[in-house]
Amino acid sequence: MKISIVGSGYVGLVTGISLTTLGHKVICIENNKDKVFTINSAKSPFYEPGVDELLKKAIKQGLLQATDNLEESVLDSDITIIAVGTPTVDNKTDLTAIGAASEGIGKALVKTDKYHVITVKSTVLPGVTEKVVKPIIEQYSGKTSKQYGLCMSPEFLAEGTALNDALNPDRIVIGQFDEKSGREFAKIYKKTSSPVIFTNLWTAELTKYAANSLLATLISFSNEIARIAEATGKIDVLEVWKGVHLDKRLSPINGKTRISPGILKFILSGCGYGGSCFPKDTKALAAFADELGEEASLIKSVININNTQPQRTLKLLKDVLGKDLNGKKIAILGLTFKPETDDLRESPALPIINELLNEGAIVVGHDPRAYKEGIPDQLSKLNITLADSPEEALKAADGAIIVTSWKDYINLTPKFFKENMRLPVVIDARRIYDKNNFTNAGIIYKGIGL
Ligand code: NAD
Repeated sequence: MKISIVGSGYVGLVTGISLTTLGHKVICIENNKDKVFTINSAKSPFYEPGVDELLKKAIKQGLLQATDNLEESVLDSDITIIAVGTPTVDNKTDLTAIGAASEGIGKALVKTDKYHVITVKSTVLPGVTEKVVKPIIEQYSGKTSKQYGLCMSPEFLAEGTALNDALNPDRIVIGQFDEKSGREFAKIYKKTSSPVIFTNLWTAELTKYAANSLLATLISFSNEIARIAEATGKIDVLEVWKGVHLDKRLSPINGKTRISPGILKFILSGCGYGGSCFPKDTKALAAFADELGEEASLIKSVININNTQPQRTLKLLKDVLGKDLNGKKIAILGLTFKPETDDLRESPALPIINELLNEGAIVVGHDPRAYKEGIPDQLSKLNITLADSPEEALKAADGAIIVTSWKDYINLTPKFFKENMRLPVVIDARRIYDKNNFTNAGIIYKGIGL
């Protein structure tokens, strides 16, 4: 089949590449001309493991191309997927890009009588596909609902493992306006064995928010328990999680083997969640519940705990260095919101750095990926030094905070910190080090939940 995808970010491009492996021909529509050029040069505009290799292959096979010509691409395809950004601004989802994409698709469809399916893959609140996307498409295409297909199929990929997630989806949720829409869209997954769930449009939309909010809730719950553990002065929360994780309902025993499900990574304490999804989606869902007259007090607490977790991290530093951080040199190891991505959106590193700068600290950051292909806006705005290596970041530092659990940091030894830092103060906000190993080696070691 021929599939056009509007928006070539993490979701659009990775979805496009994965669809080429099923034999489909994909046109990636992107209004950022630099990204179009980069993709057509067989290079991913962002870092995601494995994407460059498969993109090269897809382009070589003639199965994928990028363009900024939306009309031509829609008319040249059977299905159009919308994968543009849906940021949350002032607790409201900004639907500008969704509206523009729907308008462009509608304007193209006015020129054809062929049955065309439009599928929203961007994360949108319940009702948006039916109440926003559908009227815009019909206004500009002049078509009525049965003359075209409309679906909402949320994307569950996670950055860092996006390609594998898209190539082997654990589930495909297809919200359909009517049966024909869903049936036609589901044809693109004919060659996969992943379970497909058909729902109405609204259910598919809420499924995505429920999935993200559940994971965010586990993280904030873990951080609340960490706060309680810290307050006792007698408990290391890591030991608590070991005991909790071994519950066979969380890590089932299959014969003699213990399965360690991915969910356990979310039942761990740290400096909080970030990224382009959890923060914006939890905020949007809470605001949506308010509009419906529902309190959503749990989700609001999840957000509140997460918003205050960077300060909790800094408190650990101040417990050692004192309240006055003016002139103190602090190294931040890890700037991205999680390892294996170059994405800085809503990374906890940003509020931590801002607070340090407000207090007069000198901040040196290091990240293996965040500024490898040029310094992104979020970092260029900050008055910090970006180091080429962890060693350079730690040189003569009065304290170091581990914000992202990159592999590059996991193997750093206490000796390495001691040799480079002026004061060997390590705040392990991801609990990647052995506390005894570090403490016995003379490091002043503090961690979340310790
Ligand atoms: P992104 O910002 O990386 O990519 C969006 C792309 O769309 C950008 O390149 C932008 O230039 C382009 N664009 C915007 N308007 C356009 C238009 N009218 N025509 C052509 N191109 C246009 O965003 P993303 O991270 O890929 O997320 C996209 C959607 O998927 C969001 O709704 C997000 O919530 C959701 N989602 C994201 C992830 C993730 O891990 N990033 C996972 C699941 C779902």
